[in-house]
Amino acid sequence: DARVVVIGAGHASATLAGLLRQAGHRGEIVVIGDERDHPYHRPPLSKKFADGDLEQWIRPADFYREQDVTMRLGERATSVDPIARRVRVDSGEEMAYDALVLATGARPRPLPVPGADLDGVGALRTLGDARELRTWLDEGRRLVIVGGGYIGLEVAAVARSRGVGATVLEREERLLARVASRELSAIMAERHAAAGTTIRTGAQVVGLEGSSGRVRQVTLADGSALDCDAVLVGVGAIPNDGLAAEAGVDCDGGVLVDEGARTSVDGVLAIGDVTVRPVPGLDGRRRLESIPSATEQARQAVATIHGAEDPTPEVPWFWSDQFDLKLKIAGIVRPDHDVVLRGDPVTGKFALFHLADGVPVAVESANASPEFMAGKKWIGACVRVDPTRLADPNRSPRDAVV
Ligand code: FAD
Repeated sequence: DARVVVIGAGHASATLAGLLRQAGHRGEIVVIGDERDHPYHRPPLSKKFADGDLEQWIRPADFYREQDVTMRLGERATSVDPIARRVRVDSGEEMAYDALVLATGARPRPLPVPGADLDGVGALRTLGDARELRTWLDEGRRLVIVGGGYIGLEVAAVARSRGVGATVLEREERLLARVASRELSAIMAERHAAAGTTIRTGAQVVGLEGSSGRVRQVTLADGSALDCDAVLVGVGAIPNDGLAAEAGVDCDGGVLVDEGARTSVDGVLAIGDVTVRPVPGLDGRRRLESIPSATEQARQAVATIHGAEDPTPEVPWFWSDQFDLKLKIAGIVRPDHDVVLRGDPVTGKFALFHLADGVPVAVESANASPEFMAGKKWIGACVRVDPTRLADPNRSPRDAVV
């Protein structure tokens, strides 16, 4: 079997290594990761960082030994030669591969303002970041969160539940502007405001001021300023596609891949947050930063490495936990859809179905697993539903299918 080298030791690669062995792969598997830790779950970092167990390993360390997966942790891949099929690491050592999988993930987008390097300013991607954020919550009383996306809002929810003052500054006119419908944005804004979070939309940060090297104030474009003890920056992530681009792999805001995780270069695959991938129901390709997408692409890579057919594409989905709301979202939300609300947001149990000509194309749900499951299935199957019956919580979602 092929000698597989994987660059990046995160969610996508840990899943891939396990699936390859499960599929009977006998060839060598080498994983090169620049973090020192074994691959861990990132979702708890923004949800459980206050008091939960941060070190949630995807697999126990023994797993890799038992499965004969060589983990080269604390090492960074510095170049790839796709003609000679070799990878070089920071020590200068080179290793050969038959199949190379790029699983280098993404890094937080920096805040391009003066003062962003002050102590007490940071993003959230790694275990180290989460430990630092935990310290801030223990020490500080006022947290400013720049960016009203999922990570920022999850952190705000945790901060409030610990009695820490939280202000969310969002440049767009609404929270979750890139990723959720107007309806869900409004519901979440209300929920966060009710918990005591100050939300300021249309708020652009232009600078951070500090004293003795530590952040103390955030300045906004309208001239106003906010006092703070710490600033969490959650303004999106940039794909780590530099290595791929230098190796001549086609990239456009991430590594371009097909339904088999193949890149433009023979023998080189890519999976996870670093990729720009085809998405069912969407023209063109898109970057999906989610565990389900990373897992699906790990399966695609296994199929390609073993010369099997591409797996059937899955409906994209992800989740987010804020307060007692377990959000699950499937499909791609677009502003031109008809939206059907089922349930009452005040009760914390509801679903927003997005229909295009009566056909469900997305569902945003909170504490509503049956609705989520039905919606996700419908999106894949392209069924038509009756909006009135769908909105009636006294009827089963199944009754809505026409
Ligand atoms: P990563 O897990 O980022 O792993 C990539 C690894 O590659 C990193 O360790 C990186 O340091 C390493 N690397 C990069 N370049 C090199 C190199 N040259 N050499 C060696 N190593 C390298 N998704 C959900 O679906 N639901 C959630 O609720 C959710 N919550 C999240 C909360 C937080 C705080 C974060 C940060 C993410 C969350 N996500 C969530 C997204 C999810 O964690 C990612 O989609 C997933 O981790 C992607 O896996 P990956 O393997 O592609 O990237």
